[in-house]
Amino acid sequence: MTDYFEVHERDGAARLGELRLAESVPTPALVDDVGADTAGRVHTVLDDAGGRWPSEPDAPEGDDATVTILPHRGLPAGTPDEVAEAFADEYPDVDFPSGAVVSPTTAGDHAADITVLAGAPGYVGHGSAFVDALTTVKDAVPADTALYLPGVATPRNVATLVYAGVDLVDPHKAVVRGTEGRYLTTDEAYFLEDLDELPCACPACQQPRDSFDREDCAAHNVHALAAELARVRRRIRDGRLRDYIEGQARQDNWLTATVRILDQRYGYVEQHTPLLRRAELAATTEDAIRRPEIQRFAQRVTERYVPRFDDRPLVLVPCSARKPYSDSQSHKQYHDAIQWRAHVVSMTSPIGVVPQELELTYPAQHYDSVVTGNWSANEIEFVSRVLEAYLEDADYPEIIAHVPGEGYRDICERVAHSLGREFTYTVRDHPTTADSLGNLAAELEGWDTYQKSTREHNTIRAIADYQFGAGAGDELFPDIGTQGRYPQLRADDADGEQLAALAQQYGVLSLTTAGARRWVESDVPSKTVEIEPFVPHGSVLAPGIVDASDDIRVGDEVVVRGDAAFGVGRAEMHGAEMQSSTRGIAVQMRHTEEL
Ligand SMILES: [Zn+2]
Repeated sequence: MTDYFEVHERDGAARLGELRLAESVPTPALVDDVGADTAGRVHTVLDDAGGRWPSEPDAPEGDDATVTILPHRGLPAGTPDEVAEAFADEYPDVDFPSGAVVSPTTAGDHAADITVLAGAPGYVGHGSAFVDALTTVKDAVPADTALYLPGVATPRNVATLVYAGVDLVDPHKAVVRGTEGRYLTTDEAYFLEDLDELPCACPACQQPRDSFDREDCAAHNVHALAAELARVRRRIRDGRLRDYIEGQARQDNWLTATVRILDQRYGYVEQHTPLLRRAELAATTEDAIRRPEIQRFAQRVTERYVPRFDDRPLVLVPCSARKPYSDSQSHKQYHDAIQWRAHVVSMTSPIGVVPQELELTYPAQHYDSVVTGNWSANEIEFVSRVLEAYLEDADYPEIIAHVPGEGYRDICERVAHSLGREFTYTVRDHPTTADSLGNLAAELEGWDTYQKSTREHNTIRAIADYQFGAGAGDELFPDIGTQGRYPQLRADDADGEQLAALAQQYGVLSLTTAGARRWVESDVPSKTVEIEPFVPHGSVLAPGIVDASDDIRVGDEVVVRGDAAFGVGRAEMHGAEMQSSTRGIAVQMRHTEEL
C-alpha cells in the first residue's frame, strides 16, 4: 500500500508525482538525508534507519515528515542471485512513509512508498546493465512506488535517468565530484583548473575565478543538477521529454546507448507511452524513427488497419509540412486531380505511410520533421519496410506513385521490385506541376468517384481498427450512418442512436455508452476496467479498481463496469498500473449509467 507517493502526470516512463509528506515534495526530486543544501533545492526528507549487518537494529520509528529507509543489508551490485535471495530483507508493514532497499533480484511489493536500488553506481554508466536493472525493478514493484537511485545523478545524466523511470535522485555524486575538482555541466565534466572562465551564471559562480574553490565547485554542481531537474519536470509536463533526450543523451555515449536500448525494449517503453498527446512530436534525429509512438503507428497501420478502398487504384503521394495533409496546398491540388476516384496514402518519414482515413490520428498530424530534401538510408529502409508490409495485405488493381524523385521514388522502386508489382509514375519534375497533375488525372480516367458516405463510414471504421484492434471497424460499425461535416463526424447506428464521435484533435473515436455496449458484446477484445460497486462521477481512482485489461494504455478508450455502473472513459494509467496502484486517477469518465 503506497500512502505517501502519488503519480500525477506521465510522459513515457517518466512521471511527475508527489511525495505526500508533512511538506509535499514534487517529483522527480533531489532528496537527501543530510541537509547538504541550504537553498531549498534539495529536500532533506530521507532518514536511513541503518544497515542490518552485522547486528539486528531496533524497529525504526518513523514520522510523516520524512521517508524512513527501512533497515536493510547492503549487498554490492553483482552479488550472485542466490546469495542476494538468501539475504533478502523482509520489510515490516509500517504506517509511516518508508523506503525499501532492493536489488533487481529482491525487488517486489514490499509495501513501501519508495524503492531504493542498492548498488546503483554499479549500473549507471553502462547502458545495458542499467536498462536491465531498471526495467527488472520497475516491472517487479507496484507502479505507484517512487524509484530512488542513490549516489549517481549528475547534471548530464539526470534527464536520461528520469526518462528511464527514476523518480528520486540525490546530490551526493555532484558534491563529491565538486570536492574532487570536477566542474559538472549538462554536457561535460571539466577539470576545474582547466577553466579560465566559469561557463555558468548560478549564484555559486558569481565570483572572481581565482576565489572560486572546490567547495564553490560542489555548490555549482548541485545548482546545475537542480536546474536540469527543473527543466526535466517542465519537459514532462509538456509531454516533450523525448525530444529533449534525443539531444541531451548525445552528451555521453552510455546515455545514447541507454536511450537506444530502451527503444529496443519496445514492450517496456510502449507500455508507458500514451496513445495520444497534446504536444507536437519533433522528429529531428534519426532516433525519432525508433520512438514508440512511431513504431506503434506503423505497427497498427500494417497489422490492424484494413484497406477498404482497394477495389480501386492507390495513389501514393508525398507528405506535406502542413497537417492534416488534406489542409495543405499540395494535397488540395492532388485532390483536384484525383476527385475521390482513388485511395490516397501519404508516404512520410518518420511515420511510414498514412492512409487518408488516418491523417488526423496521433501522431500523423502531430509531428514535424526536418526537411532537407535528402533521405537517409535509415529513413528509406524504414518507410520501404512499412510500405511493403502495407501493400502485402492490400489488393489494389493499380498503384500510382505520384511522388518526387529523391527518396520517395527510391522507396517505390525498391518496394515494387520486392513485391514483383508494377508502379505507375506520374510525376515529371515536381508533383504539383500542371504536367504531373495532368498525368495523375489521366491515369484515373474511367474510374467513378466513391460517395461521401462511403468515405466517412470507412474513416470511422479505419480509426476503430487502429484504436480497438484488427476487425473492430467492421465488427463495431457495420451499419452506421454519419452526421456532421468531416472532420467533425459522429457515427450513429441504424436507429439513429449515437455510437461514437471523432475527436478531431487526436483522430480517435470517443464512444457513447451505446458504442461501449457494442464493443463489450462484440468479438473484439474490449479494454475493460472492472470497478467496485459504486457509481463513478468524473473519474475513477485506482483504489476503486478490481481489475483492468493489461493492454490498456494512457489515452485509451476504456469500458468501466461494476455491479452499480456501466460507462466509458479515457485511461489515465496503463493497465498494469491500474492493477497495482493504490493512489491516483485511473480513468476520466465520459458517460456513466447507473445500473
Ligand atoms: Zn554555476
